[in-house]
Amino acid sequence: MQKRFINAFLASIEIEAMDFYIADSSYFKMRIKEVYGRKIEDSRKERTIEIFIKTETGVYSASSPSGKSKGRNEAPSFIRDIDLDMQMLKDLKMDFSIDCFEDLEKVEKIVKGKIGANSIFALESAILKARAFERKKEIWELVNEKARKLPHPVGNCIGGGMHTPLFNGKKPDFQEFLVIPKARKFIDSVFLMKKMQENAGKSLKIKRALGRLNDENAWATSLENEQVLNVMNNERDKLEAESSEKIEIGIDAASSSFYTGLYNYKNPRKCLTADKQTDYMQELTENYDIYYLEDPMQEEDFSGFAKLREGVKGRCLIVGDDLITSNVERFLKAVYANSISAVILKPNQCGSLIGIKKIVQYAKKYDIATIMSHRSGETNESIIADLAFGFSCDFIKTGIIGKEREAKLSRMIEIEREMS
Ligand code: PEP
Ligand code: MG
Repeated sequence: MQKRFINAFLASIEIEAMDFYIADSSYFKMRIKEVYGRKIEDSRKERTIEIFIKTETGVYSASSPSGKSKGRNEAPSFIRDIDLDMQMLKDLKMDFSIDCFEDLEKVEKIVKGKIGANSIFALESAILKARAFERKKEIWELVNEKARKLPHPVGNCIGGGMHTPLFNGKKPDFQEFLVIPKARKFIDSVFLMKKMQENAGKSLKIKRALGRLNDENAWATSLENEQVLNVMNNERDKLEAESSEKIEIGIDAASSSFYTGLYNYKNPRKCLTADKQTDYMQELTENYDIYYLEDPMQEEDFSGFAKLREGVKGRCLIVGDDLITSNVERFLKAVYANSISAVILKPNQCGSLIGIKKIVQYAKKYDIATIMSHRSGETNESIIADLAFGFSCDFIKTGIIGKEREAKLSRMIEIEREMS
């Protein structure tokens, strides 16, 4: 009896001491005692990295996604390969304290040139998770505790290009056919994205053109680019009428992937000069009521982007992904050349969350919309939802179905719930 009483008493002391320790933790600065990585598989079954950090309060981890249709100007994903990054991580000496988001600058100084962009993103994410836990905050609060705006989701319904297998020997040249519901609540937009993809699948099936799911869990199809746009447009109109919500459609052309000096289309076959490509893209935005156009021109053509931006007269977002590669200098070059009206943010394109923050600040100053984005090879990591919310991004591009994509959508829904 007495022993039981003593054990209960000791347990209660332990809990109290722990509570005090955590509650007080916001007053001490975090120190990283150890860093190590391990290889994991992404959604494409390719190797990527998960990084662990040890602090006084525990072990925290985060992983990095990986791209396939990568921009030429992206920072290298690993310094040479994952093994060397893992080796370098073990030798990192981070004998400084970390308190806030801006302290990631100290981390970036130390790791620059030693590990690749995938590893830096995973490391910075693990650090933010640890600090958020220790300060009893949400990760997004470390970015901006006053953030209140939910982004609109951008989801990939039907795919082509590098992410998609052939179906009956064919696939569209454009990489992604996107849906962007603009319901008042994020959770309702997610429901509409799922419905749109389901309906688009049914429509492809009726046309005997439904292939399997691609890298991002969008439908593969044998249809031509414009036939897919027809499906997207019809399904959008029906769903808009049914739901009474505004629903936009878009394309990620990823046009560098079929540019070889000329724009070389395969389905249907045609070869366009840069001038003809801008005309064609503009025509598509008009004929199919397209609101969002990502990488319509190849990744070095700042002036082609600008010509198109001028041509669409604000009716459609001209979005830079491979053009910018989340690089501050390239972003400013695009701003001064009037090339874009929206920018994709992929933290592992540049390996710097401080760099991403700078782009967001400039984007707000120059009235450029921001889109936090996943990669085609994803993990279950959900931190881009916190980053999108913390940075008050206008959109988050995550894909629609599959556990890796839904991890981000669920986290955003959780944030929406906490805020309401
Ligand atoms: C994209 O181009 O927007 C994309 C997500 O592809 P990846 O991750 O392969 O670069
Ligand atoms: Mg893209």
